[in-house]
Amino acid sequence: MMRLVFLGPPGAGKGTQAKILSESLNIPHISTGDIFRYNIENKTELGREASEFMNRGFLVPDKITNAMVLNRLSMDDCKNGYILDGYPRTINQAEFLDSMQEINHAVYFYLRDEIAIERLMSRAKQESRSDDSPEVIKNRLQVYKEQTQPLINYYKERGTLLEIDAGAGITMISKDVRRALKLS
Ligand code: ADP
Repeated sequence: MMRLVFLGPPGAGKGTQAKILSESLNIPHISTGDIFRYNIENKTELGREASEFMNRGFLVPDKITNAMVLNRLSMDDCKNGYILDGYPRTINQAEFLDSMQEINHAVYFYLRDEIAIERLMSRAKQESRSDDSPEVIKNRLQVYKEQTQPLINYYKERGTLLEIDAGAGITMISKDVRRALKLS
């Protein structure tokens, strides 16, 4: 069973790696950020609620996010495993997830601050996302430090943490992830 959590700062490339691995393992890639953006685009009630927080670089409240993930993980395609990308992001979310299902590994993509900022700033120039403006980026990094970084120890204590250097190139990182998961 491959129930995986991908952890790391914004800009670490979790989404890229989650996509690659999910295709090769044939398990769904579940990005809470993508689900929120989809709901915003389609002007749903969930989208309206989430956008208030997302646009400013804050986390969507746990209650809303947990309910959404519970619903997604109960779908049929999750029965052989999944990759969660961008969830959990708080201790409360991690505890909620643990109460729901056993997670096999948390893969932590670590990256120096300067590199994360550099990557996000170059993404901001392309302005593909409304939360990629410089002010909002600053907020997202701070929120990451305060609320998400504690999860590294949370999973370390449970013995499920795998650490990957996210400063390398995409192909190299994919290989490292597979090696860490003992897939190749
Ligand atoms: P990134 O990892 O680059 O910050 P995401 O697409 O994962 O981008 O998330 C974008 C935004 O969506 C977050 O800043 C937050 O507002 C919201 N979001 C995504 N996942 C969660 C979550 N697990 N809990 C709360 N908010 C979330």
